Amino acid sequence: MTEFKVNGLVIFDREIGENDKLLTVLCEKYGKIFVIAKGVKSMKNRNMCCSHIFSYASFVIRRKGNYYYLVDSDLIENFFSVRNDILKLSLASYFCDVINHIAQEGVNEDQLLRLALNSIFALSTDKYELEHIRAAFQLRVVAEIGMSPDVFSCSHCGKTEEISGHLDLIDGVLICKDCIGKISYSLEENPFAERGLQKPIATVNPSIIEAIKYITGSDIKKFLSFSLDLNDYNLLYDLSERFLINQLERSFYSLDFYKSLI
Ligand SMILES: [Zn+2]
Repeated sequence: MTEFKVNGLVIFDREIGENDKLLTVLCEKYGKIFVIAKGVKSMKNRNMCCSHIFSYASFVIRRKGNYYYLVDSDLIENFFSVRNDILKLSLASYFCDVINHIAQEGVNEDQLLRLALNSIFALSTDKYELEHIRAAFQLRVVAEIGMSPDVFSCSHCGKTEEISGHLDLIDGVLICKDCIGKISYSLEENPFAERGLQKPIATVNPSIIEAIKYITGSDIKKFLSFSLDLNDYNLLYDLSERFLINQLERSFYSLDFYKSLI
């Protein structure tokens, strides 16, 4: 039986029985762990306030066999203003669902933890529009698992400057407008062709490409510090959502719920 102390963010909580919860915690150094939190549904329990989704806390955890048990906790941040706004709450839930889907157990996921904390913190401050934060999160989270789009040159002609054209949302590569008419996708390259569909693509221009480079490559503390004009923002919102869905090959109920509110 071993006991250790670690900072972590609760990214999912599920009630078990009358009084207990199973917490999914994204921890410093250890990545994702599942923690049994006994008695935390009771108002009197000292760990109650750290046993909700979005609680960032210092946890004392005991490992017994294959299971982790919550022993003690000290709240660092509970993102109160996010919990009290249905739009922010639903968007933060989506962020946690995406992170929960991609974070691994027993692997250092500190970059994903920082991304989650910075994104949820940004929701709490009102410095950026919610859609700005969502678009940047969707691109950066995919970049953090090594699937960043290659937006430095056209994948066909190699052009590097002032590219307008398309981003291929499956292969994550650019096709400049001069090359679009020259290529025809084989069935192997376009898994949708068999059903008579085009490969998913999104429109890009030099401003959007610079924004993508910034979001995916900047220090994670500053990844939201970019701006675009309104039309380009709308293109980026669409591109980032469809890029994430195509790269992860799934959507999320929490995303559908958030979008039903806006
Ligand atoms: Zn080209």
